Amino acid sequence: MSTPMDSAGRIETADRQACIKKLVERSQGWDLIVIGGGASGLGIALEAITRGYSVLLLERFDFAKGTSSRSTKLVHGGVRYLAQGNIRLVREASVERGYLLRNAPHLVRNQVFLVPVFSAWEKLKYITGLKLYDWIAGSLSLGSSKLVSREATIQRMPELSPAGLKGSIEYHDGQFDDSRLAISLVQTIWQRGGDSVNYMEVKNITRQQDGTWVVDVRDHETEGAYQFSGKTIINATGVFVDEILRMDNAAHLDSVRVSQGIHLVLDRRFLSSAEALMIPETSDGRVLFAVPWHDKLVLGTTDTAISNHAVEPLALEEEIRFILDNAAKYLVRPPVREDVLSVFAGLRPLAAPANGGIKTKEISRSHRIVVSPSGIFTMLGGKWTTYRRMAEDMIDAVEKHNGQPATRSVTANLPVHGSVSAAAVDFNDAFYFYGSDRNTILSRIRNSGKPFISEAFSVHEETIRWAVEQEMARTVEDFLARRTRVLFLDAREARRLAQPVAQVMAALLGREATWIGEQVAAFENLCDSYLPAVLLD
Ligand SMILES: Cc1cc2nc3c(=O)[nH]c(=O)nc-3n(C[C@H](O)[C@H](O)[C@H](O)COP(=O)(O)OP(=O)(O)OC[C@H]3O[C@@H](n4cnc5c(N)ncnc54)[C@H](O)[C@@H]3O)c2cc1C
Repeated sequence: MSTPMDSAGRIETADRQACIKKLVERSQGWDLIVIGGGASGLGIALEAITRGYSVLLLERFDFAKGTSSRSTKLVHGGVRYLAQGNIRLVREASVERGYLLRNAPHLVRNQVFLVPVFSAWEKLKYITGLKLYDWIAGSLSLGSSKLVSREATIQRMPELSPAGLKGSIEYHDGQFDDSRLAISLVQTIWQRGGDSVNYMEVKNITRQQDGTWVVDVRDHETEGAYQFSGKTIINATGVFVDEILRMDNAAHLDSVRVSQGIHLVLDRRFLSSAEALMIPETSDGRVLFAVPWHDKLVLGTTDTAISNHAVEPLALEEEIRFILDNAAKYLVRPPVREDVLSVFAGLRPLAAPANGGIKTKEISRSHRIVVSPSGIFTMLGGKWTTYRRMAEDMIDAVEKHNGQPATRSVTANLPVHGSVSAAAVDFNDAFYFYGSDRNTILSRIRNSGKPFISEAFSVHEETIRWAVEQEMARTVEDFLARRTRVLFLDAREARRLAQPVAQVMAALLGREATWIGEQVAAFENLCDSYLPAVLLD
């Protein structure tokens, strides 16, 4: 295993300039060029490098800037897919959930959910369904589902409205931090000798006479232009896959249907229990989750078909109202929009079904791999939970299609960067997500003798330094949205932190005062779009 670290234990590749210099100096190209640094692209790059291929991953913004930082934070078999009869997907996701708990125990935990029931029939229906859910997971089940009495339910979840309540069903699933998992994957790719760089946009792809591909790339930091070559191109750009395919074939027709889902983040006083709440049937026939996350509560999600998709999708007014209205039916204290600390929207890249008229909530969340006539491999659909299996299937497909000898996947047993023994992780510790890096960071904070910039969100000069030097954070947003989760947890606090974070980052990155002003202004604008009270003004 190759581990490009310097004598101080720093990951050398995390230095973006040095990384680009290395790419430019490499004359022989790569076996695979992966376009897109979300769950799909990162999983594929890691799968490829661990199967002996050289890999270059190019991300046009930051790693996990797209859908992969905007999920409901569940590593789940998918109770909703069970209701749809998609047993194969539930089994596949349950197996992957088990691998994720084993390989990233610093980021994934066993979460207890309660499903409130209001009649004997609901009790029977949901306990039967959830027992089946346990059975499908087999030995990988995270715990047995069981009936909970009305009294015990109210005791465990005092903020759940007791009106008409007959009890609840307890079941288990996984819960995680999505963008932190993405960063751990990037670091694992680097440590294995793979190349992965952010703020590098693929502008064009061309197939050469000899069958290799050349990609034209724009560096968004320097506006520099580069060309890199690879034997195989993998398109893992989520809702943007069709843009890449049209670079190769202008007549290409859309292959993804886009569905938006939003989440509202609230203070824990609306639901203070360690258990998450799962509402099995909302007014539009979907499920709604209220999940504790970083000591806040994430409420979501929606499923709204979208025809034009943006890099920064915006929550629609009716989506915000839908979540507030449905939550109000179940909570003692109904949340109102002024209570919302942050609202974030994500876009599902769903594989377009042959039957174009189908509703987005009915489209399968299974992944599909498509090879274009010119030989571009595209990943459609999928879930964060199954990212590893999707990647394994992709590399199998590449080997088969290219007539290469089949190699064996090792990622089911590959701990990701930061992994520690599950027993050593305390999810109540503010620094838990750093895993094996936690103690180093804490001792740097202690040795610095400097105060926290934000005690509540553990933002310190040393955590900013860590993000810049070890995690390729390049902007205020990278740090406050994806290296830490402040933007998603409390957009007002994130806005307040923009200036001090920009000042520290400017010193670390050697930036001028104008950069600080631009960063703060851009980030403040972004924060406003995460605040529904502001959205209405
Ligand atoms: C609301 C919602 C809730 C969800 N909840 C869950 C959940 O709880 N659990 C779960 O398992 N799954 C969940 N999912 C699904 C999961 O989040 C997605 O399947 C997954 O994140 C998609 O990852 P991706 O890499 O395919 O796409 P993305 O994360 O969008 O990554 C694509 C990347 O490609 C980059 N890119 C685009 N064009 C270019 C270019 N020209 N050059 C270079 N890079 C480019 C983009 O910048 C982007 O970063 C949810 C999805 C949504 C929308």
